[in-house]
Amino acid sequence: MKTIGVFFYQGAGHLHVQALQKLGYLSLKIFANTDFSALDGVILPGGESSVQYDYCINNNLDKKIKEFALSKKPILGTCAGAILLSKYKSSQVNGLGLIDINIQRNYYGRQINSKIERTDSDNKAFMIRAPSITECGKKVKILDTLNDNPIFVKQDNIYCTIFHPELLTFDSKNPIKQIFK
Ligand code: GLN
Repeated sequence: MKTIGVFFYQGAGHLHVQALQKLGYLSLKIFANTDFSALDGVILPGGESSVQYDYCINNNLDKKIKEFALSKKPILGTCAGAILLSKYKSSQVNGLGLIDINIQRNYYGRQINSKIERTDSDNKAFMIRAPSITECGKKVKILDTLNDNPIFVKQDNIYCTIFHPELLTFDSKNPIKQIFK
């Protein structure tokens, strides 16, 4: 059974752990002192990217994530996690730049505007204060779109969804299943 590490300091980590269990994976909660060597993949969940960013920087987790990326094993960032993996820069968050996308935070509205959308490839996407992917570099592959806007992308072993796949585990094309197979 594969073991997937889930960043746990802030955000939807517990929901990813539940989703991984339902989908047949073991999980390990990632905190500052976690050893990444036994992991087959990593998930950076949704939450508040500014808080998550500060924790990563203050605890050298950014370096561990970058090092893990070099192993070529998959990393999935969902929503705030996608912001952390991107090359987005602001006064609060400087993404790790592991995937050549830029992002606009909170593009799809506030918490109260959360909803399940039907994507252009007929999947379901649960959007909660989702960012928009505003630029994709040449090496980025677009895996799904919503009204022609990218919502699921990859560059090599780095995957991002601006939606929450952990909430839709019943979906047969769930990105978590596709990525950590
Ligand atoms: N809007 C949040 C941020 O910018 C992300 C929202 C989410 O992860 N659901 O950090």
